[in-house]
Amino acid sequence: MALRLAEAQHLRLHDVASHKGRPYFRLLCHRYSVAVAASSTIISPSSAEDVAPLEQLKTSSVKYLLGRSEEQLTQLALSYSEKKYRGTQLHELLYKAKGRDLNEFLQLPKSFRERLIADNWRIGRSEIHHTVASTDGTLKALLKLEDARIIEAVGIPVEEARGINRLTVCVSSQVGCPLRCSFCATGKGGYSRNLKAHEIVDQVLTIEKLFQHRVTNVVFMGMGEPMLNLNAVLAAHKCLNEDVGIGQRMMTISTVGVPNTIARLAEHKLQSTLAISLHAPNQEIREKIVPSAKTYPLQALLADCKDYFVKTHRRISFEYTLLAGVNDGEEHAMELTDLLHKWRLGYHVNLIPYNPVSESDFKRPYKASMLAFERILNDRGVIASIRQTRGVDANAACGQLRNEFQKSPLK
Ligand code: SF4
Repeated sequence: MALRLAEAQHLRLHDVASHKGRPYFRLLCHRYSVAVAASSTIISPSSAEDVAPLEQLKTSSVKYLLGRSEEQLTQLALSYSEKKYRGTQLHELLYKAKGRDLNEFLQLPKSFRERLIADNWRIGRSEIHHTVASTDGTLKALLKLEDARIIEAVGIPVEEARGINRLTVCVSSQVGCPLRCSFCATGKGGYSRNLKAHEIVDQVLTIEKLFQHRVTNVVFMGMGEPMLNLNAVLAAHKCLNEDVGIGQRMMTISTVGVPNTIARLAEHKLQSTLAISLHAPNQEIREKIVPSAKTYPLQALLADCKDYFVKTHRRISFEYTLLAGVNDGEEHAMELTDLLHKWRLGYHVNLIPYNPVSESDFKRPYKASMLAFERILNDRGVIASIRQTRGVDANAACGQLRNEFQKSPLK
């Protein structure tokens, strides 16, 4: 299978660098995410506690160590009458050694390991089901979850003469996606469930291990809509920051905008980037691309973005995928600048040329129209840049590879 990884609707490569004549890119998994599915059923953000307190877990069946802080692991050790430092050891074994099996944690006393296992404690790592590498260095990993569902995580290295200097992971936040954006392979593959926090963290550890290199950046732009699984995304974000050691500014959370979630995110005052998948200069076009935008009008979304900026002082990234004949005309560029002039606050526009995938009727625009679009924006004072999108001979866009391996529709 020689499908392209990066150019599809979900994955974007940009920030071109080169090494020995080979192009390298930073890849972003592009997303369209809205509040409701095509059925117009409102989807509420998850309210489940994704890293439940220890007391609650005493009664549940399987419990996961991954996703827990050093303090929580220390409390766990103490609750088994072990010394405090056993918690620190557990933390190191999870996040530094990236252990997969409690039986391999030989630094811990055998009796402690046995009692943890008997009490249904598990690490929480997922099995690597399949990997596909591209010639430009990106690597897509399919991970098999405990319930045999399959998700994707993508590692994107940016290399310089001395080797990798940046490694970005595009993480999934759901198994499939309920939002069914019109050009998305993931959406077409159906939806099963939200990921748990440890299943998100696991994706980052897996890519670190596969590359034998520290992950520097995380983008919540893989399969699924992060804002529909906000509790787990926030828990994973915290763990990745505090336990795995990835700076908040090195992480991006992307969304089309699920009602009431941008304000919730703002309360956390994260230093991470919020990326809004805009994709249209007006409500009418937006609804065609993202069906669920019907319930979250553009003006309401922009108003929420404005509040977010005021509360966090973090510049917002507007993502705009250029679809030939749909939203890439000069009149659309004019309309987009008018829209953003009204908004006035800190932002940047990323223009992403669409690359068709087999399941979609959308087409990639001509280069001339992309450049004309960019020029109009910049001439009219809207800071914008075209992201380089390059096909990679891995296995398709976000969702396509997973669909290859999980033929039966998700429920
Ligand atoms: S259907 Fe879901 S996964 Fe696909 S682009 Fe839309 S939000 Fe992203």
